[in-house]
Amino acid sequence: MKTDYAHYISKTAQEVQPSGIRKFFDLAASMEGVISLGVGEPDFITPWNIREAAILSLEQGFTSYTANPGLLELRQEISNYLESRFSVQYDAKNQIIVTIGASQAIDIAFRSILNPGDEVLIVEPAFVAYAPLVSLAGGKPIPVSTSPVNGFKVTPEQIENAITEKTKAILLCSPNNPTGTMLTKEDLVEIAKVIQKHDLLAVSDEIYAELTYDGTFTSLAAIEGMYQRTILLNGFSKGFAMTGWRLGYVAAPKELIEVMLKIHQYTIMCAPHMMQHGAIEALRNSYHDVETMRRSYRRRRNYVVQTLNQIGLDCHTPGGAFYVFPSIRSTGLSSEQFAEELLIQEKVAVVPGNVFGESGEGYVRCSYATSMEQLQEALKRMQRFVESKKLALR
Ligand code: PMP
Repeated sequence: MKTDYAHYISKTAQEVQPSGIRKFFDLAASMEGVISLGVGEPDFITPWNIREAAILSLEQGFTSYTANPGLLELRQEISNYLESRFSVQYDAKNQIIVTIGASQAIDIAFRSILNPGDEVLIVEPAFVAYAPLVSLAGGKPIPVSTSPVNGFKVTPEQIENAITEKTKAILLCSPNNPTGTMLTKEDLVEIAKVIQKHDLLAVSDEIYAELTYDGTFTSLAAIEGMYQRTILLNGFSKGFAMTGWRLGYVAAPKELIEVMLKIHQYTIMCAPHMMQHGAIEALRNSYHDVETMRRSYRRRRNYVVQTLNQIGLDCHTPGGAFYVFPSIRSTGLSSEQFAEELLIQEKVAVVPGNVFGESGEGYVRCSYATSMEQLQEALKRMQRFVESKKLALR
């Protein structure tokens, strides 16, 4: 046997780069007194009634596999939820699969549609998993860069310019990670025209749909002509504060779901039974809790945006999710330098914008899903840091 493992490892897997976020978490974890604005997860514990439903499920002995696409009762709740919240209709029996987080939904979506060399447009800055998952599915991720000039919204022209005869699909994420940008119905209508003109599929990551603060969220699948072209992804992690439960779902036309289900049944079999009982409870009885969390994030967003602008880090007001994406250009540092020096000097962890794509250079992502006290202290430290850098520039 050769001891040089590179010889054995798949070329595609080898070429995928590890997430740039990890490096900072590892460094932050080795230090004391760090305030982390780095992680992308709610600071709330899952509401008690949801936890209780999962406990009850175990007590009652629901320890078997479920149907491959998930409990029909849960798929029915998801179908009801999608219809009542976003006016999109999916048949519980053959248009929905319960997945291991939205993460697995992204994976099976790409693996079900891509042939080698097919191109997928990814609107950047973007969630770090999209491009690697496109590559692992044999496709080619094509970045479509957005800019802060229009609040990081992708324009129909930018999409049009990136399309080639190899383009198979576009991935859209609204509200976005890392920018928090939400696309309005009007934005989506214009984007949909380009998608339809070029006969593309759309993978729509709507995991932050519950966390919107201004205006109304619109699902891409609800836009005229998009239902048949959209693979809709969503999950329980963010809106319901259920990251550790690892539950998400995909809803799409029956023909696409059939292919995704083949991959899902061989790789996963089904999502965990007891967690699915928790998710049923989440969809039935947590409207009040979700609304309370949403209001709390909104308050924190307003505070963080205002303070960042005051301390000289220009920051647009994001419409959703729990991230802000301020410019750090006034400090004369690169994103990586800013994040690294801020961590070492002031013990505040943020994520350098360049890990979300080239257009993220010059920005950092700060999650405001942490307590108000921690946010106040973190911003105080950031102000001190920014002032020291500006003084050094003079
Ligand atoms: N999509 C986006 C945009 C995300 O930010 C995340 C989590 N950070 C996910 C998908 C994955 O979520 P999960 O697998 O926990 O459902």
